Amino acid sequence: MSKLRVRFAPSPTGYLHVGGARTALFNYLYARKSGGVFVLRIEDTDKERSTDENTKQILDSMRWLGLDWDEGPHLQSEGLDRHRGAALRLLDEGKAYRCFCPPELIERKRQLASDHGDGWKYDRTCLSISPERSLEMAAAGVPFCVRFLVPDGETTFQDMVHGRTTLKHDEMEDFVLLRSDGSPTYHLSVVCDDVQMGITHVVRGDDHISNTPKQILLYKALGAEPPIFAHLPLILGPDKKRLSKRHGATAVMAYEQQGILASAMVNFLGLLGWNPKGDREIMTLAEMVEAFDFSGVGSSAAVFDTEKLLWMSGKHMERTPAAELLPLIEEQLGARGLWTPQDRDPARLARVQAMIDLSKVRQRTLPDLARDVARYLSDDVEIEEDARRKHLAGDDLAARLLALRDALAGCADWAPAELETAVRGAAEKLGVSAAKLIHPARVAVLGVAVSPGIFEVLAAIGRESTMKRVEALVAATARA
Ligand code: GLU
Repeated sequence: MSKLRVRFAPSPTGYLHVGGARTALFNYLYARKSGGVFVLRIEDTDKERSTDENTKQILDSMRWLGLDWDEGPHLQSEGLDRHRGAALRLLDEGKAYRCFCPPELIERKRQLASDHGDGWKYDRTCLSISPERSLEMAAAGVPFCVRFLVPDGETTFQDMVHGRTTLKHDEMEDFVLLRSDGSPTYHLSVVCDDVQMGITHVVRGDDHISNTPKQILLYKALGAEPPIFAHLPLILGPDKKRLSKRHGATAVMAYEQQGILASAMVNFLGLLGWNPKGDREIMTLAEMVEAFDFSGVGSSAAVFDTEKLLWMSGKHMERTPAAELLPLIEEQLGARGLWTPQDRDPARLARVQAMIDLSKVRQRTLPDLARDVARYLSDDVEIEEDARRKHLAGDDLAARLLALRDALAGCADWAPAELETAVRGAAEKLGVSAAKLIHPARVAVLGVAVSPGIFEVLAAIGRESTMKRVEALVAATARA
């Protein structure tokens, strides 16, 4: 059997949105799982609405998600002469004909039918024009479009998601292949390119399912074997209405800007319509490739729930090594003057990675992680009012802070176990509970009332910074 070849064919009339990204992902998964080829084709034939900026955004979004393609990007517009040639061949073979009906006339007939509550399809007025007369009229400059002559019968295909689907041809009109300005229509270009690129499987959104019988007829008319089709289910918002801007961002890039992890986004998109066996949810792209199978893709609509996406981002954050997270927050730390990528002193690098490890289990997005790590890195502690009220009170506060400072200063080994022994020992000597030193310690170094285990925090912050922050609080308390 020949090698599987799939394609993703976005139109650069807008940014890559989540529906398109899901289509790209499923093509990618299928290609990688089957050892096939993933082709990228930019369908830029709508010159008015297509822009280079959109194409760039689409490619950037795919790269961000890690969906690397094997061939392309091919530009559909480069094949327009080839597409036109195919239509002229069909014309020569009597499988298509020129239609000279003025668009206004067609519109009037359609409107009239609709006023009577009827549908309308092209009534084949121009099919009765003889080929010789048709040529003469074209040569005389009468404007025309080229229509495909839909044969009698019906078309049936086996969709990998929706199963057997049949459409009777009398429900189909003789659709246009070339417009009166000579430009090929979507149906013609897409089929010509899929034939030329040897596409074996077309994986795309549900919205194209009604186009499929027309396209199958075109394949056959062009003497090509139609590919196998898989139409992915619709994506809905949590209110079960078709996903739109009303539900929040639909552009993939917006999620990158929000600081969602790419691995989480791709995981989330993968589960929109696909159910991996065994209740698995959190998966890497490689694990999804391994598990992917169209038997797990259902035909009922999938729900896009941003709360779930955030949850997944948190889960992926937890599993991502600190060394991989650091480059993703360097810019945000740099903007606060706390880190430069050149800051590669091994001790400092180890410290910041330890801070990331402490923080990543509690955060869901990169800006949240950066904010947390900034708190660990900065010696300028801003004390939250709530933390001050709860933990910096009592007549003996100054004495407790001094005991804390001395206990920490006496630690030979700056590691969690020794720090804990020292602080607990000091509390006992003072005759107070350990909490009476631990809470003020947390406020002194981070300015907040809750954090991961304080001794791990102190160890990550390091001796010098910890002492500086505790001394600052001792001094401020003495002044108060
Ligand atoms: N360019 C079409 C679109 O963006 C896709 C065509 C197809 O996949 O057949 O909807």
